Amino acid sequence: MRPVWLTVDSDDIRHTPKSQGHPTRSKGTPHQGTSSEMLDAMKAFREWLDRTQVTLTIFVIADQLDDEVFSEWLTDLLSHHPQVTIGCHGLTHRCWSAFPEDADGLLAALVEADVKLHKFAGDAWRPWFRAPAGYIAPWMAPVIAKAGFELDSSVNPSWLVRKKAGPWKDWNAVEKALKDSGLISRPWLCKFKLPTCGPALSIPILRWNAKRAWKKLGPFVLPDEAEETVYWHILDHRRNDGHWKPPLLME
Ligand SMILES: [Zn+2]
Repeated sequence: MRPVWLTVDSDDIRHTPKSQGHPTRSKGTPHQGTSSEMLDAMKAFREWLDRTQVTLTIFVIADQLDDEVFSEWLTDLLSHHPQVTIGCHGLTHRCWSAFPEDADGLLAALVEADVKLHKFAGDAWRPWFRAPAGYIAPWMAPVIAKAGFELDSSVNPSWLVRKKAGPWKDWNAVEKALKDSGLISRPWLCKFKLPTCGPALSIPILRWNAKRAWKKLGPFVLPDEAEETVYWHILDHRRNDGHWKPPLLME
């Protein structure tokens, strides 16, 4: 077994690159608030968390706090689960490395998200960042550090998604930039150089590979003690009529 840091991303359907935040993948359909699919997923995720009482970090998109339904749900969750911490998954879900370099725009967005999330989460807040949809380029690293973040968990070190890593399509260049900027990096778990996190949990073949890798994980710890990092989406919990759970050995 390997000690692992469990993380979940709070994306609603409107945040996916297919919907918004990407220069070519997005259809630009505007949505607001919390979707009914997300409400089902939030309920199922909370039931799973109440049952397992597991230590984990939720990476939240700051614009979700504008929605009362979502922010009340998260406030209640935090009041019952002091073991849960909150990190930043962007102000919106803009896929920064898919756009031309824009250090000023990124800095402004990160500072605003940081203030919003810190104020909301209080003691549960951690200066930890995850780039929306895993789009992170080397130029972003010093900006993330400048905005006050200490740890980054955006790197998905697989050749399959290397186009997300910026102009050189090189995860090593991103890792080096994070290190040079004084940031701790916690990349996502890969097996056989293939992704095992996020969408990989529901894509045929990748799903099989991921399940085998995740079954060997535990105990569940914070990033300073972890040898691996994995993530899934709160939205995943709406699958199988709300009975979906991450493929970990825990129940
Ligand atoms: Zn996301």
